[in-house]
Amino acid sequence: MGHYIGIDVGGTNLVAGLVDETGRILDKVSHPVDKSMTAEALCSELARLAQKVCEMGAVDYKNILAVGVGLPSQVDNDSGMVIRSANMPFENTPFRQLFQKEWDIPVYLGNDANCAAIGEYWAGAAKDCSPAVVVTLGTGIGGGLIVEGKLVAGFAGSGMEVGHMIIQPNGNLCGCGNRGCWERYGSATALIQLTQLEMERTPDSVLWELCEGDRYKVQGRTAFQGARLGDPAAKRVLNVYLQGLSIGLINLINILQPEIICLGGGISNAEDDLLLDPLRELVAKGTFDKSNPTRLERASLGNDAGVVGAALLCNSI
Ligand SMILES: [Zn+2]
Repeated sequence: MGHYIGIDVGGTNLVAGLVDETGRILDKVSHPVDKSMTAEALCSELARLAQKVCEMGAVDYKNILAVGVGLPSQVDNDSGMVIRSANMPFENTPFRQLFQKEWDIPVYLGNDANCAAIGEYWAGAAKDCSPAVVVTLGTGIGGGLIVEGKLVAGFAGSGMEVGHMIIQPNGNLCGCGNRGCWERYGSATALIQLTQLEMERTPDSVLWELCEGDRYKVQGRTAFQGARLGDPAAKRVLNVYLQGLSIGLINLINILQPEIICLGGGISNAEDDLLLDPLRELVAKGTFDKSNPTRLERASLGNDAGVVGAALLCNSI
């Protein structure tokens, strides 16, 4: 039985997992990111971390079929290059080559949102669904599409950048340079900004108490907590937020008609009556094919989706 190693490269932690062919994590090790590292040093560090998790699981290096790496980056698996990265020292970096200097093994690269989708497809909430879409609500909005077990990400790996679908002409300015991108309305960042705006308008809102009077302490969960307490301002925030979130989901459904869309990221932990139930209602209203609804569910692997998906990249691309 072969084993795989998946590495999730995040902004704060590097996590390597030893994974079997069903997507089960057998062992896991994590290490904080040293932000001063060069690309070369980071690649060797990742190779050492991969070997360490192998040793923890008492698996011989030669029984590892492949290593997959999920990065918060634009990657080109064909060439093994990391093209660019928001918070990592990678720019046109020959990642695979640098990694293989330390450990000569097949290395696959994927972006983190695509890896999360692969993980949920093989071992999570999207298991055996096709097409399956996984949408991750975080600082931005990431997306991944799996069709019959294979990742679909365009001819050069940058497809399914769902966060940058434009849902509002001349809308809010996005980090990508365009205006009105979905992630400016549906990400955790957007929810925090909506909450802060509503607080400015409503000095007596319970939202202020929830963040100890400090608007910079507002989190994605604050509006949900306020709504749970019956606060009208918090409910207004969620209405606007869910409206924006639903538009992107409706577009995805009308274009792809996935069997399932899984929502991941911290926001997806909100309770059903405040998030999934109202969202399902909004999405159902806007979907073209009303007799064949797409299931809208919470992703089930949490932070492990990235490791599992990275490990199984080799079977999915
Ligand atoms: Zn954008």
